[in-house]
Amino acid sequence: MIPLSEPTFDGNEALYVRQCIESGYVSSAGPFVGRFEDAFAQVVGAPHAVACASGTAALHVALQLSGEQPPRMVAVSTFTFIASANAATYTGAQLLLVDSEPDTWNMNTQMLRDHTVRSARMGKRIPDVIEVVHVLGHPADMEPLWELRDRFGITIVEDAAESLGAGWKSGTLAGQHTGTAGQMGCFSFNGNKIVTSGGGGMIVTADADLAAKARHLTTQAKKPGEVYVHDAVGYNYRLTNLAAALGLAQLERLPQRLRSKRAIAAAYNALLGDLPITLPPRAPWATPSHWLYTVLLRKRFESDELVAAMAANGIQMRRVWAPLHRQPPYRKTEILGGGEVADDLYWRGVSLPSSAHLDAAQQNEVCEAFRQTVLASTRRR
Ligand SMILES: *Cc1c(COP(=O)(O)O)cnc(C)c1O
Repeated sequence: MIPLSEPTFDGNEALYVRQCIESGYVSSAGPFVGRFEDAFAQVVGAPHAVACASGTAALHVALQLSGEQPPRMVAVSTFTFIASANAATYTGAQLLLVDSEPDTWNMNTQMLRDHTVRSARMGKRIPDVIEVVHVLGHPADMEPLWELRDRFGITIVEDAAESLGAGWKSGTLAGQHTGTAGQMGCFSFNGNKIVTSGGGGMIVTADADLAAKARHLTTQAKKPGEVYVHDAVGYNYRLTNLAAALGLAQLERLPQRLRSKRAIAAAYNALLGDLPITLPPRAPWATPSHWLYTVLLRKRFESDELVAAMAANGIQMRRVWAPLHRQPPYRKTEILGGGEVADDLYWRGVSLPSSAHLDAAQQNEVCEAFRQTVLASTRRR
């Protein structure tokens, strides 16, 4: 079986994890947490980084500290993994879902800007936080959001869980990594992400005060220097030394991982470019990470058929997420733009095997099976 996405361990992973075990520091004390945070801050170009137990935990804490602290209304893309919305819901905020734009599949930020300006003019409630997801490793178009931040004081938080290594090439964010555009950015080190710690997350920010508050909340709101004194309701959201050891070793190999992901995407583009499908987005102003190579099929009914046919060939593919407005907990949530673009992505979107260690022979095998299946389906209809 060629899997959809598997982690690659070819660096110091075993060495660092063994050091944890030999030193006895497997839990949240120990040197790897700080080393991982410092190295991560350096890689994305953020002044502060706070490690968390998961990407969802990172988002929860970041959102809790945003807007009206906690936020009252969070705008989030409807086309994302459900954790983006759940983290906002944990804070008690009301959600405003936003449809995607067809060019990058991310939140339609222009539509959100126009809607917010209009709502403000009519005296209606506007979001105090915008949670921008960089879907599948392609950065979102942030430019329309600056007006909202500057005019209405809206806080921008980035869900950069899928976009470690991605950034902007031009515009106001030229040269910056995703996660550093908003007040806080959150990453995930779940097993299928580009860097994994088994499970884990990171908050990055330029604001030292916010970093300190985030660290406080992730550590049971314990007062520093005192024993069992807690000045708020905090969370047990710390990352363990064991996980940080794995994460640090993985982070050291990020340049290699990104090179592989980009080479895999380029090869897929070349091998599949003549088929009746839509290749992954690539805006001229963006440097995507190509975390999970995803294409759109021609027709809605082809997705399930294709995934099944590929599985019969020993190749694991997966349809993209059902948008939030189709998930039971969020079916009644207000959705800006109706959700038609996100629905279309959901019906036609499929991800191809994207492990960084996928070799050329495997990739040719995937493309050959994919081509036969797509062409057979085209002939049949
Ligand atoms: C993976 C992911 C998360 C959650 O991260 P965990 O570490 O699994 O909690 C959040 N948002 C997006 C967009 C993700 O892909």
